[in-house]
Formats: sequence, C-alpha cells, structure tokens
Amino acid sequence: MRAELGIANFEDLLFHFPYRYFDRTRVDKIAAINEQTEYVQLAGKITHIGEEGDGRKHRLIATFADDTGRLDLLWFQGANWMKRTLKEQERYIVFGKVSNFQGYYNIAHPEIEPWNSETSVAGMQPVYSSTQKLITRGITNRSFAKITQALFEKLQPGDITEIVPERILREHQLCGRYFALRQIHFPESVEKEQTARRRLKWEELFLSQLSVARLRLQHTAQPGWVFAKVGDRFNEFYSNHLPFSLTGAQKRVIREIRTDTGSGRQMNRLLQGDVGSGKTIVALMTMLLAIDNGFQACIMAPTEILSQQHYANIARLLAPMNVPVRLLTGAVKGKARKEILAALADGSLPIVVGTHALIEDSVQFKNLGMAVIDEQHRFGVGQRARLWKKNELPPHVLVMTATPIPRTLGMTIYGDLDISVIDELPPGRQAIKTVHRKDMGRAKVMEFMRSEIDKGRQAYIVYPLIEESEKLDYESLMAGYEQVKIWFNENRYNIAMVHGRQDPDERERNMKRFAKGEAHILVATTVIEVGVDVPNASVMLIESAERFGLSQMHQLRGRVGRGAEQSYCILMTGNKVSQESKKRIDIMVETTDGFKIAEADLAMRGPGDLDGTQQSGILKFRLADIVKDADVLESARNAAIGIIKEDPRLDQPAHQALRYTLQAMNKEKHWGKIS
Ligand code: ADP
Ligand code: MG
Repeated sequence: MRAELGIANFEDLLFHFPYRYFDRTRVDKIAAINEQTEYVQLAGKITHIGEEGDGRKHRLIATFADDTGRLDLLWFQGANWMKRTLKEQERYIVFGKVSNFQGYYNIAHPEIEPWNSETSVAGMQPVYSSTQKLITRGITNRSFAKITQALFEKLQPGDITEIVPERILREHQLCGRYFALRQIHFPESVEKEQTARRRLKWEELFLSQLSVARLRLQHTAQPGWVFAKVGDRFNEFYSNHLPFSLTGAQKRVIREIRTDTGSGRQMNRLLQGDVGSGKTIVALMTMLLAIDNGFQACIMAPTEILSQQHYANIARLLAPMNVPVRLLTGAVKGKARKEILAALADGSLPIVVGTHALIEDSVQFKNLGMAVIDEQHRFGVGQRARLWKKNELPPHVLVMTATPIPRTLGMTIYGDLDISVIDELPPGRQAIKTVHRKDMGRAKVMEFMRSEIDKGRQAYIVYPLIEESEKLDYESLMAGYEQVKIWFNENRYNIAMVHGRQDPDERERNMKRFAKGEAHILVATTVIEVGVDVPNASVMLIESAERFGLSQMHQLRGRVGRGAEQSYCILMTGNKVSQESKKRIDIMVETTDGFKIAEADLAMRGPGDLDGTQQSGILKFRLADIVKDADVLESARNAAIGIIKEDPRLDQPAHQALRYTLQAMNKEKHWGKIS
C-alpha cells in the first residue's frame, strides 16, 4: 500500500478519506435509466455470471437485476478476481457510469458492495480509492473500510490531538478533530459529514497559510542591503536613453522597488505582468539602481535564447552609457568564461545576463546586490535559494512572471512574497484578433498567412508536443512540416523548424534565423512558449488547439502583437471538438485579458495543473479546492495571520500542537527557505 497510495501508518490511513459514499437512501431504478443518464446507484441481485472472449478481449459479465429491470455489469480487468468474489443470487449495491451497447445498458467496472455490509453506521457507507494493482491483490474499497473501522473501535477521542486552538474552533464554528475524522469516514448523517468535511478543509488550508505566514515573517525579518540613493546611471538612462516613456504601471512598480530596497530589509518581490507589458525595462532600471549604489546585478532567464535576447536588448540600451554587461551561459567557455568569472569576482563587471549557469558555485560575485529572475515558473525553487547565497547578505530578488495569478492562488503559493502588478500595456498596441478555424477551412487559412507574409510579416505555426518524447506527436509535427512546405513553396519562402528533439545548437540556429527575419515561418513545438520577442511576427497559428491548455495558448498568443501591425491568432482544430475544448477556445476568442484567462483556467482545470505550481507541492490538498473553497481559504488565512502576529514562533502552550504539525510537514515537503 505504501508504494501504491502512500499509506505507511495509521495516521495516513485516517487521512485516506473516502471520495464518496454509498447512500442507501438514494437508489435508482433500472427502468428509469435513459439516454441522458450518466451515473447510477442501483440495488439488486446478480442473477447470472458468465465469461466471454479470449485473451485481451476476455471479460466477465454479470447480469444484475432489480425489481424494475436488468442490465450487464462488465469487467475487462481483474475479471478472474471478480469472478471469485461475486456470487450469483447475492444482493449488491452498484455504482457506476451507464453506457448503451446496441440498445442494452451496461456498467463497466462498477463499484460494487454486498448489500448487507457491516461497515455502515447508518445510511452512508464510505467508498475509498484503491488501485487496480491493489484490487487484484484483494485490497479493495471494502478492505479500507474494514481497517479504518477497526481503527476507530480502538481509538478514544483523546487519542487524536486537537491541533486548532479552542478559541479558533469556537470563533469559526468548527467541530473537533476526532469528530471530524470519524464522521468523514463513517458519517451518521449528511449534515455531520458536511460539518466534518468543512472542518478538515479548514484545517488543511489553515496549516498551509500558517506556513506561508511564517515564511513571510522570515523574509521580512531578513536584513538586506540598503540602496540609499538614486544615482547617475539611473538618472542618465531615464533622462537620455529611455526609448519610450514609461507607462504609469511601470513607474509605480519602480517606485515600489525603490521603497523596498531602501528599507534595510531584503526584497522578495514578484512582478506580475502580462506578456508584452514591458517587464524588461523595469528589470534594467532596477539593476541600474543597484549599480549606482555600488552593487552588482544579474538577470537570469530560463533558456539560452531568452538570455541572449535579454543580453542583446540590455547591451543595446546601455551602449551609450559605458556600463559593461556580459552574457554568461553554458555555451560560454574557455577564455571568455574565465574573463567573465574574473570580472565578476573583482567587481569590474557590474551587470551579467545569463541562464542557470549564473548560479553555479564557480560564479562568485564581489558584491551582488540585485538578482532578477525572468519567467519564474521555469525555475525550480531550490535554484532561487542558491542565489541568496551569493553574498554575505542575500541580494534583493525580483521575480518576474507573465503567468497571471488569480487571487486565491496567489495567497497560497506566493503569500510570502510582495507582489507588484503591471496592469497596463504600452500605448499603441492593437488587440490581437483571435479566430477559431476548423480543418476544412485550412486552405483559406494558408492563403491568409501567405498574404500576411507577402506584406513582409512573419508567422509561427505551433504543434502540440506535450511530452517531447511522444512518438506520435513527433510524427505529426514532421507531417505538419512537410505540409507547410507544400503550401509554401520553398523557393520563395524560408521555413525554419524548432523542437525539443533537436540538439540545442541546431535549435538555436533555427530560432535565430527566424528572429533575424531570414525565415518567414517558424514551425515549432511549445519550446517557443516563453518570452521570445520577434516584433515583426504577426500571425500565430496553433495547430490542434483542442490539445492546448488555456494558459499555454495565452502564452503562445503573446508571441505576436508586439509590433505596430495588426496581429492574428488562429486556433486550428479538427472538425469535431469536445465541449471542454470548445469552452477553452471560446474564452481565447472572447478575451485577451490574461487575468480573466487565468481565472477561467483555474476554474476549469483546478490548481494542480497550473504552470509553476506542480513543483511547489503547496497545492496538493486532500479535500480543499482553492477555487470552490475560496471562502474557507479566506477565513483560514485570516486566522493564520492573526496567530503569527500574536505568537510568531508558536511558543504559547495552546499553539504547541500546531508547531509540531508544521514541523512534521516541513520535513515532508522540504519547503525550506524558498520563494
Ligand atoms: P514582457 O513583459 O513580456 O517581458 P517586454 O519587456 O519584452 O515585455 O516588452 C515588450 C515590448 O514592449 C518590447 O519591445 C519593449 O521595448 C516594449 N515596451 C516596453 N515598455 C514600453 C513602453 N512604456 N512604451 C512603449 N513600448 C514599450
Ligand atoms: Mg519578457
């Protein structure tokens, strides 16, 4: 069970919650099943058990009847085991999804329980998740119910430590922990089950918010370098070399950063701004602020190509000012590398742009005061922690992300960072026109692309490649590439291709051909998702758009609309599209507001899948859903902040249980001193 479900001890077992209940008071009738029926719970008898088919087609078929009709129960997997378990003429409760096969209803792999099961206290009987492997070894839903019930027979209320202080339980009308655990496994009524569930969700969110509040406290208590003045280089750049006027939002963010860096505490700020909102210039001015105060600064990007772009940009902007800047990536070797390392160590190089190469131990700064991290979600949290160690006091950290974060999510994963938002695009941008087209309209789409290219623009064509190693995806990319070559005569149009199976050098080369305008079309997988800036590209064609997530499509769309020209995003799908995919595509067509898209994404997918959150481990709640339970989150968060204000280290006797629980959680999750 340990390997399969992560259950290693009694406590794990108590927290392996049922995911639904057989409620005996709610039984459907077979005669009432119709084409609209999805899930049913039936009570009746197995009248006959038989087998059909050989080898992989082998299946077990049980005829199941109630007093109104009958249908088939089917097992394709574990058929032998089920055959030994089920008995003809016995009564069962069955739950599952109904399908219709040639006018006859059946349920494949139903949940099934003997009618007179002893595990139920009252009407509701718990259903636990197991795995196919465990089931074939005889560890079923029933086994869990039995073990858990046996456990509760031994447990006294006092055996389960209440971790939430009394006062808070009363204030938030939460039931006790023992009651909650008992009732969630073996509810005496629907109401008690709901009371229990609310308490346990609250507890989960409360613990996560306490961790966040403590981290934040650590951060804000961390002394930092003081940038006392706004100096010559900042002012000279601002007055003489800024190629445009800053938007109000950009100015506001720079002011926020100035306040932070002047405060004597270390800054840990997240800068959130939609694609194209102009984060780079903010980063640059922040770095100038650092060097005016005698410090070095670095900016780190997740890929070679992105750091090259930053480097090219920054070097161009700084060219008139005699501020040295160098690029350090894994590709920089030999003499050049030695030179850069030496200049960083002796302080003669004030600004360095690079990739992960910057956090290697061999890179030593004389006096690093400011570290900017671009496109944050591509970096692991541990890598950020390594940056902290590059100076006696940790440098100020500015993390930039184009992934908009809905409020509830922000509270949970970035609750310990200060957040700045650029909520205004530079003036003069034209909204990108987004349309949905189906395969049968392909010829028109290609014609349109050709006319844009003939006007001097460039175009992206993106294919899904969820797993870079997936063979089928790779083949469809290649087939797509061949097709593009047929639509666009190779003598007239240059086509470049980038994907994850190419060696990095070749990929860079092709990417550069497009960035320099030598290639008209870039056929690509999602490797171009992040940050690439080719203002002349005005068409983004996304193939098999039904396979992309919302935030991914939004990031891709952000690659166009960067210049003055009208830009287009075309979402190509098959002629038939599922409801879910249609919903996503409709949202893309309706809005270009990244924030709205992120909210919709969170609501549709749940938080676990959002970019950048997987690695945080902070979002894996057993019961709580930060979208649906936003009100619970809010109340748990307020309680957590209240406690940490009053007793930052949880020293009070009433907070001891909480302290131990958090310590145990920290060990498990390694949330050390990270973001
Ligand atoms: P992102 O936030 O996606 O990193 P960039 O910093 O790459 O955005 O900026 C996108 C484009 O907008 C760049 O070409 C940049 O020069 C331009 N830009 C940024 N700020 C302004 C501004 N205030 N006015 C006009 N153009 C701007
Ligand atoms: Mg950027």
